[in-house]
Amino acid sequence: MLDFEDDNSDVSQELRKAQSSDTDAVRLAKESLNDLDIQAGIADLEGSVGRVNVGDKFMINARADLNQLVPFKYDWAWQKYLDGCANHWMPQEVNMGADVLLWNDPKGLTDDERRIIKRNLGFFSTADSLVANNLVLAVYRLITNPECRQYILRQAFEEAIHTHAYQYCIESLSMDEGEIFNMYREIPSVAKKAAWGLKYTESISNPEFKTGTPETDREFLKNLIAYYCVLEGIFFYCGFTQILSMGRRNKMIGTAEQFQYILRDESMHLNFGIDVINQIKIENPGLWDDQMKATATQMILQGIQLEIEYAHDTMPNGVLGMNADVMEDYLKFIGNRRLTQIGLPEQYPGTTNPFPWMAEIMDLKKEKNFFETRVIEYQTGGALSWD
Ligand code: FE
Repeated sequence: MLDFEDDNSDVSQELRKAQSSDTDAVRLAKESLNDLDIQAGIADLEGSVGRVNVGDKFMINARADLNQLVPFKYDWAWQKYLDGCANHWMPQEVNMGADVLLWNDPKGLTDDERRIIKRNLGFFSTADSLVANNLVLAVYRLITNPECRQYILRQAFEEAIHTHAYQYCIESLSMDEGEIFNMYREIPSVAKKAAWGLKYTESISNPEFKTGTPETDREFLKNLIAYYCVLEGIFFYCGFTQILSMGRRNKMIGTAEQFQYILRDESMHLNFGIDVINQIKIENPGLWDDQMKATATQMILQGIQLEIEYAHDTMPNGVLGMNADVMEDYLKFIGNRRLTQIGLPEQYPGTTNPFPWMAEIMDLKKEKNFFETRVIEYQTGGALSWD
């Protein structure tokens, strides 16, 4: 057995040699770690020092340690993270060859069809950035639950993929990038939707903003309704329907395929957001008073109104077997659905879905959220089908 105290042992001499060869900087680093107090480090972390108890986990204003993922409280959030990962895709996997030929053929598309492609790439190329920025700069910090944060990290990456997909379409089609990327400033029907969303980011993206009072908790709830129910749940629907309708008619099939992958991700973002909003309501019943209900209703109705204006601007004439009036019916149908999903009464009585094929494409079974069914079916492969 080696005796490290034995000055004559080879190992001991080697060790001493290694220590004496440490630079001052290495010696300083070693010495600094001698003073590290584990308890003090833990106390500096957000939340309590003790082991995480499920009963201490809450959507907002929780004190439980945010660095520990388990034990789970919201299994549905973790499941959505797994489902989002199972649906992973990248824009370059989609063949854009047929789109390039059609777009460059002067007789390939009508002016009305070209207007739809340009307006939607203009709106969406910025909209997903707005959602991503709101998510990482405001929402992530204020949701105090690690399994939800895990899904939000996945969602943030998906928003980046979507922005990449629009850029990939714009680049493939050799469009004027300045014209497309500035539509959210220059085209009123696009600009209004972006401005409406930004209004709700302003207050909560202030680094000083904290939840914890009824006023600030409601402010945060309004942001979640604006982004999840209106931006992702209403503002995407006219454009998605138009582009997917084009794909069904065998036009711009690469662009349509990109939009179909995006829609699949977006319907999960929407459902995650609705589950979060409903969970906050359950945990903080005082927030959901008559005034908050009236505000939430107004927000959704304003969103529908802006999307109706967008439908008329993008479709001045009938195109692709649809027109702005029929789209209006569809949007009212969507509006009723968004209202009821967060527990508010319908505001457009008697509306039905004029585009049942949209429901099939999205697969409404997947659009159900936790609070509606507690049964979730998701596609687990990357492939999509046009059937
Ligand atoms: Fe999204």
